[in-house]
Amino acid sequence: MRGLMQDVPLTLQMVLERAGSLSAAKTVATKTADGVHRRTYGEVVERVARLAAALHDLGVRPGDRVATFAWNSSRHLELYLAVPCMGAVLHTLNLRLHPEQLSYIANHAEDRVVFVDASVLPLWEKIPGLETVRTIVVMDDTDGAATGAPGALDYDELLAAAAPRFSWPRLDERDAAAMCYTSGTTGHPKGVVYSHRSSVLHSMASLFADFLGIAERDVCLPIVPQFHANAWGTPYAALMAGASLAMAGRFMDPASVSQLVAAEGVTISAAVPTVWFGVLQAIDAGQVDPATLSTLERIVCGGSAVPEALMRGYDELGIRIVHAWGMTETSPLGSVANVKSTVARDQVLRTRLTQGIPAPSLKVRVVTDEGEAAPWDGATMGELQINGPWVADAYYDPAAPGGRGGLDRFTDDESGTRWLKTGDVAVIDGEGYIQLVDRTKDLVKSGGEWISTLELENLLITHPKVTEAAVIAVAHPKWGERPLACVVRADESVTKDELLAHLGGHVAAWQVPDDVVFIDEVPKTSVGKFDKRVLRAEFADYRL
Ligand code: ADP
Repeated sequence: MRGLMQDVPLTLQMVLERAGSLSAAKTVATKTADGVHRRTYGEVVERVARLAAALHDLGVRPGDRVATFAWNSSRHLELYLAVPCMGAVLHTLNLRLHPEQLSYIANHAEDRVVFVDASVLPLWEKIPGLETVRTIVVMDDTDGAATGAPGALDYDELLAAAAPRFSWPRLDERDAAAMCYTSGTTGHPKGVVYSHRSSVLHSMASLFADFLGIAERDVCLPIVPQFHANAWGTPYAALMAGASLAMAGRFMDPASVSQLVAAEGVTISAAVPTVWFGVLQAIDAGQVDPATLSTLERIVCGGSAVPEALMRGYDELGIRIVHAWGMTETSPLGSVANVKSTVARDQVLRTRLTQGIPAPSLKVRVVTDEGEAAPWDGATMGELQINGPWVADAYYDPAAPGGRGGLDRFTDDESGTRWLKTGDVAVIDGEGYIQLVDRTKDLVKSGGEWISTLELENLLITHPKVTEAAVIAVAHPKWGERPLACVVRADESVTKDELLAHLGGHVAAWQVPDDVVFIDEVPKTSVGKFDKRVLRAEFADYRL
């Protein structure tokens, strides 16, 4: 017997419609050089219609990729709505990547139109070899200080000239809404393609009291960039809940963040630990008045593990850090460390420091090296695998059948359940809390962004005075991790500065290792692979 309920497609048009009809008076505030600029959701919804009409006039059709190269802002929010709701695909480019990486990603995704913040036009102009981009639209986030690019359109002029209405097409909930590239452990970055359905379900889950609990009365400040896994989905979740939004623009220093919290009455923020670590340090140094944070109730923190000192520091200010785990491939929220009522009282802090329990509708398991599903005993380690309606099923590969590539990162069990292999090593305890203990992905995570060790090693080895090079992650109090290059010299005269300058020519400045140590040889496993565990243990206490 079939259910007899309406089969309404779950699309982001629901989010747009609801924001316009039920939350028109709520606001999105954007920090600018001069202060804070505010727009109501009512205004945003009208501008979204104009933007869709303008995009249509520019020749954008369903399925076309429209990219952004921008900070968090109300204009970026308008793009989050207009592009998917007209059936096109929003592709957020990561400003922090090297021009060559960006060129690969934009060409691979076949971006047609790109919206660029004026403040990052100089970065955009450095990107070589763009093959598919035919229109550039500049968004002036500099209060008129920046000059536009030759041949580029101006965002606000485009909207002013466009029709204020758009006839939204009927969409299939399984159609692509947005895409985001994530660092591959080997080879090129990989494209994750979110569907309307996955985006709506992920937003709904973010409203659950036992997940992020985003509610109508909240003012939400995503400091996690909109180019990083859709700002963890918080813009859509806030719009769906009817919560106001505060966007930091390019101003993410502790003073600006705390001023924005005070000006907008922010109640919930989302960011990697590095950002709020900086604010805590500024408070301790007397540079930020903790009273400016008086409305802030909770901070969703993830992307890398939350240190206990950070959680305790904010506990003392009466602000709850909510630890979350996720990946670009999981939209990104996978688990949140809210404390269940069955957890023993003396285990509360320990539990809050775990990576949490999976959201309703997601399933996790830990698979041991022997290929067995590990018991939830808090001790048996293995790779964390995840399944659910907002978990990737494949990576985007236009050359593969159906565009579905990267299938080696997935596995199907005997019941037909598809699991994403996360590359994180974890244990799960009896209450279902995930605790990450290591990761198999050979990457460094610095301030929430990935650095490819393989890329650095390949570059180092091209230096004529280098025989072998291994790059490892070393713990860092502010950034979580930083790269350390371990180099075997071919020529004793080579210097650290020479090698770092060599890398600086190929990767973004923040991806260059903090230091170089010269070693006699790179330790190897029995099959001759670099044994980075040995190096990591050797340099565990290395101070950068
Ligand atoms: P995001 O940083 O937005 O969560 P990425 O795809 O860039 O997404 O990175 C995902 C990876 O980051 C995870 O597989 C894991 O290795 C690491 N990570 C994410 N959240 C946490 C966390 N709370 N604790 C430890 N590591 C984390």
